[in-house]
Amino acid sequence: MTEFANLTPQQLALLQQVRTFADDVVAPAAPEWDRNRAFGRDAIGAAAKLGLTGLQVPVAMGGLGHSFSCKAQVTDIVAGADFGFAMSLINTQNVAYKLSRDASPEVAQRYIPALLSGDRLGSTALTEPHAGSDFAAITTLATPNVDGWSVTGKKAWIINTVASDIMVLYAQTEAGSGGAGIAAFLIDGTRDGFVRSDRFEMTAQHTIGAGGFELRDYQIRHDELLQPAGEAFKVALRDINGARIYVAAMCCGMVDAALQVAANYGRNRKTFGRRLGEHQGWRWTLGEADVDLSAARQMVGHASGMIDRNEDAQFAAAKTKIFATRMAERHLPALAQLMGAEGLQDKHPFGRHLIGARIAGFVDGSTEMLLERLTGTYAREAKR
Ligand SMILES: Cc1cc2nc3c(=O)[nH]c(=O)nc-3n(C[C@H](O)[C@H](O)[C@H](O)COP(=O)(O)OP(=O)(O)OC[C@H]3O[C@@H](n4cnc5c(N)ncnc54)[C@H](O)[C@@H]3O)c2cc1C
Repeated sequence: MTEFANLTPQQLALLQQVRTFADDVVAPAAPEWDRNRAFGRDAIGAAAKLGLTGLQVPVAMGGLGHSFSCKAQVTDIVAGADFGFAMSLINTQNVAYKLSRDASPEVAQRYIPALLSGDRLGSTALTEPHAGSDFAAITTLATPNVDGWSVTGKKAWIINTVASDIMVLYAQTEAGSGGAGIAAFLIDGTRDGFVRSDRFEMTAQHTIGAGGFELRDYQIRHDELLQPAGEAFKVALRDINGARIYVAAMCCGMVDAALQVAANYGRNRKTFGRRLGEHQGWRWTLGEADVDLSAARQMVGHASGMIDRNEDAQFAAAKTKIFATRMAERHLPALAQLMGAEGLQDKHPFGRHLIGARIAGFVDGSTEMLLERLTGTYAREAKR
């Protein structure tokens, strides 16, 4: 965890509780969840008791009202125990926060309490079977009618969908109009017209609960519009900057956990009459990881502060996520190598974290899309 100048004593105390929760609840359960291809539903209740499902939700609405920087630190710690669980947890909190910010008071009051208590889970659904990176190409269509909108379409690769039923849905309102026609709505998965698909059977990280759903003439009420066409796309792009930063923080948490496990192993395991940590060629790998981890955490801290101050974090978030994802993809295998065969035992996090780092390379903007974003001005200048 980074030394944060911008966290309050109250937030630092919460991080201590989160550390205990990650060490005592998430880390011991994670290998079992992985073995059983399970979704860590039960632990969400324990996280909710700490307030983690409402980290950024204002106190007046039952949340903790903490800053984005605090959230980034929470995700760092929890992902060190299990990336998929951290993603699951934070996606429920994100829906609660979005409703507190963007929904009508009636809709907020109807759904936020169940998200805060962990009784219901939340998801944010942009991606469709044919449209991932090209978000503006989504075709789920919301057609206006007298009661609101009727929606038809399919969503894919949505976190928590194995169990969630409070969704933020992005849908097209005018076929072929790209980003300008996209609006954001609240969807209640207990209502008619919502059909959950089978979950995606992944190599690991089942705790992320990724799956899809279909909307078949699902009826949205007038007050369930969160952002109209013209606004929703811009808000989604702004919110995704925060997501990129906390995904980067999660990469830091995973590398830190792997570093601790490997360093500890090197204190005990002996080869050629000496402890592993005494072999220079062995321990330099720890140093290499530590250097990049410190740099990634500085970037997370810097970009998080920009979100807290409501500054445009677009480029800082993109750079932070690219750097942190690559840092994890580089150092997790190197740290696993330090463990010899021992690192393959699933009580250690290396295998799970490696898949976590792979997922981090796609969610909330793939590395390629972020590079596109960063280099867009070069392309425009070259075209002139
Ligand atoms: C575990 C998991 C959880 C997810 N959770 C959610 C969620 O909760 N909500 C949600 O809406 N989505 C979610 N996603 C979807 C995620 O946002 C998409 O996977 C991502 O946007 C990439 O889309 P794609 O997988 O369809 O790849 P594609 O868009 O098909 O791209 C395939 C590859 O080509 C690259 N590529 C595409 N276009 C270009 C280009 N112009 N130049 C260079 N390279 C290019 C991409 O970077 C990628 O590597 C999740 C995905 C995963 C794996």
